[in-house]
Amino acid sequence: MGRSVLVTGGNRGIGLAIATAFAEAGDKVAVTYRSGEPPAGFLGVKCDITVPEQVDAAFTEIEAAHGPVEVLIANAGITRDTLLLRMSEDDWQSVIDTNLTGSFRVAKRAAKGMLRLKRGRIVFISSVVGMLGSPGQVNYAASKAGLIGMARSMARELGSRGITTNVVAPGFVETDMTAVLPEETQKQYLGQIPLGRFGLTTEIANAVRWIASEEAGYITGAVIPVDGGIGMGN
Ligand code: NDP
Repeated sequence: MGRSVLVTGGNRGIGLAIATAFAEAGDKVAVTYRSGEPPAGFLGVKCDITVPEQVDAAFTEIEAAHGPVEVLIANAGITRDTLLLRMSEDDWQSVIDTNLTGSFRVAKRAAKGMLRLKRGRIVFISSVVGMLGSPGQVNYAASKAGLIGMARSMARELGSRGITTNVVAPGFVETDMTAVLPEETQKQYLGQIPLGRFGLTTEIANAVRWIASEEAGYITGAVIPVDGGIGMGN
């Protein structure tokens, strides 16, 4: 019997690769999607993580179908890149609301069931940018750095109940999110990556699956870089 796994933003990109990795390992996987159609092969639940009622309704639906969520992957995220002096309150707020507050919201709701089960795995998808900073990403970097402090506080609060809370920090991965970056920016990033290539969504998914496994049961409050070495030392 597989575990009840939830991946937010699991309809495309890194989230879909993570959902696929858990399903291949035999887990019961639910994914949230905000737009379009749910991906085939998973329990697809429509949910915008910036709307508290939708988050609660999604969990209720998943709990009814798969049981309490034992593994939560808070993956959904957005960018609204622009330089500091051009960054509007809305650019700032929408990124913080989705990446940081949305992750808080789903983790809090998941923790309820995990505390009752006395076991669980919470994984936040941050970014190397949260530690390195990045021009044009003041809002995004702040949201991704915030996830680290949040995860470590949860690790301390929930650890005694068998719940681990970790962060996976990807580097540059080829998805819709990065496809919009100008070629010149992509080239500059590439030049800084010791492994000399961009990451694959499956390479992020493998690390996430492992940190949520039995094998990783003594790791909590960790930040796992999956970044080709670009963030080394941070
Ligand atoms: P994509 O843009 O390809 O996918 C983002 C996903 O998040 C989509 O499923 C999207 O749903 C969902 N989402 C966005 N906003 C909301 C919301 N309000 N409610 C629910 N779902 C939402 O991104 P990636 O796959 O590249 O990124 C996934 C995660 O990895 C993000 O947190 C990102 O910050 C992080 N990351 C990505 C890196 C990269 O290089 N690609 C590097 C480091 C971190 P919908 O399809 O409905 O829009």
